Amino acid sequence: MSTQFDLCIVGGGIVGAGIAQAAAVNGLSTIIVEKKGWGSGNTSKSSKLIHGGLENVSAFNWFTARERLSERKIIQNIATDLVEPQWFYRPVYAQNRQKPWQNALQLRIYDKLAGDANLAPHHQLAPEQWRELQGLNQHNLRAVFAFQELQTDNLQLAHEVLRSAKQHGAMALCPVTFDEAWQTDDGYRVRVVKGERSRDFDCRFLVNAAGAWSDQVAGKIRSLDPSPKTRQIKCTYIEYKESLGSNRFYVDGLTGGAPVTILPWRGGTLVGPAEQVFSGNPDRIDPAVAEVEYLTSTMRYHFPHFRHEPFDAWSGIRVEPPSRAVTKTHDARLYMREKARYLCIYGVQMTSYRAIAEKAVLGVMRCLNGRSEPPPEACYISAASIPI
Ligand SMILES: Cc1cc2nc3c(=O)[nH]c(=O)nc-3n(C[C@H](O)[C@H](O)[C@H](O)COP(=O)(O)OP(=O)(O)OC[C@H]3O[C@@H](n4cnc5c(N)ncnc54)[C@H](O)[C@@H]3O)c2cc1C
Repeated sequence: MSTQFDLCIVGGGIVGAGIAQAAAVNGLSTIIVEKKGWGSGNTSKSSKLIHGGLENVSAFNWFTARERLSERKIIQNIATDLVEPQWFYRPVYAQNRQKPWQNALQLRIYDKLAGDANLAPHHQLAPEQWRELQGLNQHNLRAVFAFQELQTDNLQLAHEVLRSAKQHGAMALCPVTFDEAWQTDDGYRVRVVKGERSRDFDCRFLVNAAGAWSDQVAGKIRSLDPSPKTRQIKCTYIEYKESLGSNRFYVDGLTGGAPVTILPWRGGTLVGPAEQVFSGNPDRIDPAVAEVEYLTSTMRYHFPHFRHEPFDAWSGIRVEPPSRAVTKTHDARLYMREKARYLCIYGVQMTSYRAIAEKAVLGVMRCLNGRSEPPPEACYISAASIPI
């Protein structure tokens, strides 16, 4: 194995895999290390949606929504076999915080933000169609809207992106744990371990793409200034063995919590998320009884005839960037320390893995080339042009 790389990436989730792909395609000698299994972290917990995040519209995060809607289209083009457009039904009840006209407006903005990259535009269902929606509660129901998102196979997507990275020359080690790193004159010496064995190599730039574990990884890099701590959100889902049917729903949580999706899932039904701020060990994360009850009652309210009990519940962690700011000129998801040749990635949704990989690799190339400007576009190959 070579002992000198341009770039070392810690973490083999969708984000690390995307960065490895973009780096390798652009000629950086790249190594990526993953401690458990490719995509086995929070990438494996994803509810498989490649989506703009309708909630971004009501939260006025329009730049984020636009980026994700545009990525949705790019992923549809480069990973044709891995994604499928699906209709989502959004019921609006009299007691919902937002009235039907507000939902209609949000969906119109959502379509507009997608622009040419849109899937089929949203529409409103006629009341006589409501009864066809698998026993959806009709009491106090005021409107039902339909809009499209993409559904994917999250693990396969991560594996395919990684396969593409390897095809373009990246070295991928798994299961191998990043143990520590210390700065050298030209970057870092990195120590990785596998069982009892350890191995050292040098890299000119270090990317921390360890998601919920990125604080732990940052803590193992000697003489690095402390980086902002991650804000972690625990997301809990419940699973039913029984199938509700083939439709997908996007409903309001019963107590005004985050929106809840209800999806066909492995022959049964998936409901979630219930969200809570989390500050424990990301390796030990279990659903709380209150979260399961909240999701169960949300499901019961919307589908009163569905009298089953969930057979499983599980939680994952969604990381939030230190600030919400994602604009054209600033992206809080990238914590870049050019002098230290270090980049930490915060809180990237699966949908945005490619966009963030592109920004990350442009930043790394700029830093390694010692230029203040990004390399001219002609020198940069966008991963958007590479089918996976
Ligand atoms: C329940 C849930 C549902 C979601 N649903 C969606 C969705 O539908 N659509 C969407 O776009 N996004 C969704 N997200 C968000 C999305 O899944 C994640 O933000 C994204 O997958 C994170 O990817 P990542 O590569 O940053 O992190 P991870 O996938 O967690 O990867 C980090 C990796 O680093 C590895 N690692 C940690 N420490 C070390 C070490 N010392 N050495 C080597 N490797 C190490 C871990 O093993 C892990 O594999 C969801 C998130 C959750 C929690």
